[in-house]
Amino acid sequence: MNEPVVLSSTYVNRQDAPRGEGLYARLGTETWLPFEETLGTLEGARHPALLFGSGMAAAGAVLDLVTPGGLLVVPRHAYHAVLLAARRVGERSDVRVVSVDITDTGAVVTALEESGPVPVPTPSGPIPALVWLESPTNPTLELADIAALSEAAHARGALVAVDNTFATPLAQRPFALGADIIVHSATKYLAGHSDVVLGAVLAEDAEIHRAVRERRDIGGAIAGPWEAWLAQRGLRTLALRVERSQLNALVLAQRLQDHPGVAEIRHPGLRSHPQHDLAAAQMSGFGSIITLRPHGGQAAADALTAAVRLWVPATSLGGVESSLERRRRFATEAPTIPEDLLRLSVGIEDVEDLWDDLKTALEFVV
Ligand SMILES: *Cc1c(COP(=O)(O)O)cnc(C)c1O
Repeated sequence: MNEPVVLSSTYVNRQDAPRGEGLYARLGTETWLPFEETLGTLEGARHPALLFGSGMAAAGAVLDLVTPGGLLVVPRHAYHAVLLAARRVGERSDVRVVSVDITDTGAVVTALEESGPVPVPTPSGPIPALVWLESPTNPTLELADIAALSEAAHARGALVAVDNTFATPLAQRPFALGADIIVHSATKYLAGHSDVVLGAVLAEDAEIHRAVRERRDIGGAIAGPWEAWLAQRGLRTLALRVERSQLNALVLAQRLQDHPGVAEIRHPGLRSHPQHDLAAAQMSGFGSIITLRPHGGQAAADALTAAVRLWVPATSLGGVESSLERRRRFATEAPTIPEDLLRLSVGIEDVEDLWDDLKTALEFVV
């Protein structure tokens, strides 16, 4: 029933090792394979996923593929460390980094058109132009029209990478929508128990897949065998966890939108979300993240975070337990994100317990 955890940095020489496993553990170990193959199947990919030591290691490997002199288009709002990594790429190379509002398909197309000629790909940089999308975005829950943007990007010689962490492959299949690369922070829903940090990259094109793998081989940002095993165990309950947390999130979002203590609530499943129709068309679930701005500003947001008893005041998301966080407590978060915005990661607890706790805390605070 369970794959063994192989703890070995090196292997006795053998000829029949699949994909380089069974040589040296930085280049691959059989303990990664069940997770890589399962995630590849879930995303409907041609090739297995490539497991990395963190979501940022996975993102970094993809950002590193842009050709010198090439173009990198990034969302104005996205996971803060990814945006920082993209900015660093621009600072230390002649890659042009352009920040866009990904909810505005026309603006992304304009950015591609105005960027000038793209260079010829090289083995060290096989992607002359890359549009990085995150949908829904962390933490603003903005959506990119992945199909329209993929078509527009391809027409201009650009590839599209989608950070699919928030949706998971159960709610969104970027390859079916035309994307070329998928990135995951497996730390979140895929592993699902707040006990490992891991990432993954999927690429449809064999050459890009090979180049990502080379980044992992050379960069060495690999996963340990225990972490890979835990992530695979997490995947077994992904469907149950996502089903429950999405249901919980929708119920809570609907109740919160009628609560007098709440100034603004955002969830792709609410009709009030400006891109609800796109979410309904492009996704098969609305995810399990809600953002909430209480009346009373930052002080109320902090007080609410301190007042909850079942919800965990903590960073990160996608675990079985519900947590919440005021994102602007991090200096690296985009200044356009409101100071009082709380990101709620809804877990799999009893929804009435979650609601009681939030309602009590809101009454106490606002
Ligand atoms: C957490 C997160 C990342 C970074 O992943 P780590 O596993 O923390 O390195 C990237 N993208 C999104 C959307 C995330 O939520």
